[in-house]
Amino acid sequence: MRNEHLEVNYIDLEEAYLDDWRVPIIKFLMNPSTNVNKKIQLVAPHYILMDGELYKKSKEDGLLLRCLDKLESIQVMGEVHNGLCGAHQAETKMRWLLKRYGYHWRGILKDCNDFTKSCQACQKYGPIQRVPTINMQLMVKSWPFRG
Ligand SMILES: [Zn+2]
Repeated sequence: MRNEHLEVNYIDLEEAYLDDWRVPIIKFLMNPSTNVNKKIQLVAPHYILMDGELYKKSKEDGLLLRCLDKLESIQVMGEVHNGLCGAHQAETKMRWLLKRYGYHWRGILKDCNDFTKSCQACQKYGPIQRVPTINMQLMVKSWPFRG
């Protein structure tokens, strides 16, 4: 019973490793002579490998943004969106905050959108459209040529 549990965790970790978007870039940075996808070769110069961690060079301010995997990105989004100082910011504002905190991953804007759409508080207390549900009706002025 215990061995089955360990085996399942091992398989999950292996799948997570295979699905990790950082792995091809790290492999290419560690050994540039490996045969990898052309797209990886083009994006790899924007990344740096330091102490086994992958960092992306920010285009705007030159900061090094720590690259996160799927699990870490979900934890960070939760902290930024509805953590201690989270103000339930959405989309581009949330992405801007994540970059200010020094994090990056592929598809960050889409993940921010998905996270906001899945937030129950945002759906419950978000902006409500206050347009009446009935059709608009014409008003006839009682005296036509005045203001
Ligand atoms: Zn929210």
